[in-house]
Amino acid sequence: MSDEPQNTAALSASKGSRLCIEIITLFPEFFTSFLQTSLLGKAIANGLVAVRCTNPRDFAPGRHRQVDDSPYGGGPGMVLRPEPLAAAIEAAEQKRGRTHRILLSPSGRLFNQSCAARWAEAGRLMLICGRYEGVDERIAQLFADEVVSIGDYVLSGGEAAALVIIEATTRLISGVLGRAESIVEESFSYGRLEFPQWTRPPVFRDLAVPDILVSGNHALVARWRRREALRRTLTRRPDLIERHPLTEEERSMLAEIELTDPQRGGRG
Ligand code: SAM
Repeated sequence: MSDEPQNTAALSASKGSRLCIEIITLFPEFFTSFLQTSLLGKAIANGLVAVRCTNPRDFAPGRHRQVDDSPYGGGPGMVLRPEPLAAAIEAAEQKRGRTHRILLSPSGRLFNQSCAARWAEAGRLMLICGRYEGVDERIAQLFADEVVSIGDYVLSGGEAAALVIIEATTRLISGVLGRAESIVEESFSYGRLEFPQWTRPPVFRDLAVPDILVSGNHALVARWRRREALRRTLTRRPDLIERHPLTEEERSMLAEIELTDPQRGGRG
């Protein structure tokens, strides 16, 4: 019985990693190409990030290694039994140490950028993926440090949610992205969406790049970007403005936005 399926064990270094992620999943193959690709693939190859999968099915009893059963009280579908999940969690931690354990569930608290920032510093993280109708409640009671959802919709399993969390979290680890500034200015990092971006060519299908971006005046460009970030946030995510009140500068920008564009932003 192995808790390190060939395909993912080969992807991980762990000694000295900034973040070690343990995934409890019935489908370790889900992660294979994801963990080998692009910036995350490089971070794993360089030993900055380590990822291990443990499959509860390896700990399920009997010839059929059944991991699920029908729900008490009746109802459709099957629920993951607690014993194989508990054994998988304990085996991973016995080998490599205690983790910050996150149970993935649509009924959890919503994942956001500040969770990603917090978990990037956690050292050891565990993502527990449910399937079918979900997970026996005793797993949440006995093991979960947090129960987390990635959004108000229902996926078929926790694996896609784990991918989202791994990508959002690991890119905040120093050395994973090329330039630290790309994190600082991004959407959500200061309670606003990111400003719009353009690249070459200067005119595409009659749409020209805003003059200010080719003016060479860095201070004016920076202010213009802060204003456009505010405009976009007002239009698309007014809830962010409620949670992160306007700064003094943004108050004057708001006046400018309303003066020039009472609808606040064309096609959003
Ligand atoms: N019956 C459950 C409900 O209505 O809340 C849905 C179970 S879902 C089909 C199966 C598994 O997918 C869950 O146990 C969870 O691990 C994962 N999952 C589904 N949606 C998710 C979401 N929005 N965020 C995180 N995990 C999710």
